[in-house]
Amino acid sequence: MIEVILKKGKEKAVLQRHPWLFSGAIERVKGKPANGDVVKLLNDRGDFMAYGFYNGQSRVALRLLDWNEETEINEDWLRKKVRLAVSSRSNLLTPATNTYRLIFSEADYLPGLIVDKYADYLAVQVLTSGIERLMPVVIDELDKLLKPEGIFDKSDASSRAHEGLETNHAVLAGKHPPESVEVTENGVKYSINIAEGQKSGFYCDQRDNRDIVAKHAKGKKVLDCFSYTGGFTLNALKNGASSVLSVDSSALAIDTLNKHISLNNLDASKHTAVQSDVNKQLRILRDQGDKFDIVVLDPPKYAPSRSALDKASRAYKDLNRLGMLLLESGGLLATFSCSGAMDIDTFKQVLAWAALDAGKEVQFIYQFCQPKDHPVRASFPEGEYLKGLLCRVY
Ligand code: SAH
Repeated sequence: MIEVILKKGKEKAVLQRHPWLFSGAIERVKGKPANGDVVKLLNDRGDFMAYGFYNGQSRVALRLLDWNEETEINEDWLRKKVRLAVSSRSNLLTPATNTYRLIFSEADYLPGLIVDKYADYLAVQVLTSGIERLMPVVIDELDKLLKPEGIFDKSDASSRAHEGLETNHAVLAGKHPPESVEVTENGVKYSINIAEGQKSGFYCDQRDNRDIVAKHAKGKKVLDCFSYTGGFTLNALKNGASSVLSVDSSALAIDTLNKHISLNNLDASKHTAVQSDVNKQLRILRDQGDKFDIVVLDPPKYAPSRSALDKASRAYKDLNRLGMLLLESGGLLATFSCSGAMDIDTFKQVLAWAALDAGKEVQFIYQFCQPKDHPVRASFPEGEYLKGLLCRVY
């Protein structure tokens, strides 16, 4: 096995079992590993440190896999990790929910592998060359464990490019998913277009939060911003919201959301969907003097990295200021950030600034987080990306 030697003084993060090793921490590589090879990491004195996937093109040159020298990183090791991840989610499958994340990359000790379950279909994202190479075994194990109708590759182009991988949208096993796969989450039905939808087709990370927000919605007037295909909207209507206005810039998302209203036999007269830029639409609503009891803000990732945090904070502040202005006194703001670079304390600070600018008093009454199928590994805090606050606004 090819050996990679760590620079002197760069041991700390490895000893703390952080799964990323940046190229700058490497002193030298003994030999010429191919991208995706499993290599052995040694410190400058030649002591074993960890095994990892190598990628000479990525800033994260090594994705560390195991810190025990006795472990063999082979097919059995891989099958065991897949089995562990899948079995740890077995209690999530209920008559009310048949869609969730089965494997969450580093958090499940499989860096670069994401697998989502959509009823009888699986959608896979392969983001590292190490996992790419092992996919035949991963697929075989998933097939054995879950017997899906089909497994579809939905790998995201931009993250793959970092590892020198091409985009791959293809059937990996079984049947091509039909244009519409019907899934259920919290008893709400969705029709998912696995091949064409955003990301892997559905944001299952908001499952618990949709339920929590909906519990406040009975008899309330709700504004769902960045609605996508209606996660928050549908749960709110099902729980008796008096009306919901959904806003999203994607025509396909709005079209699918309208279909979801009838799929769930919800009263379409209580729902309006607007295809528009949220920042523009919030100003229109403000100028019209519209007010809501609950405002949901679930924007896309504004801060892709730490360096983008300042600019992103200003965008979050402006968005939340507008959201606050649209609330009746005592109304609820359910506001989220899926930027890993934005931690909860910074997010609270941003909301405090937004409150000042809006001239509002804000109480944080609940803290949202990512659900159980998106675990945060203790040695990998970067995996904690979804956070939110339920605020009462006066
Ligand atoms: N709340 C959704 C998920 C939101 S994902 C759910 O529960 O499923 C973010 C959404 O924001 C996407 O649907 C995307 O189309 C939309 N979006 C991104 N930028 C936008 C903008 N400026 N205005 C309106 N929608 C936007």
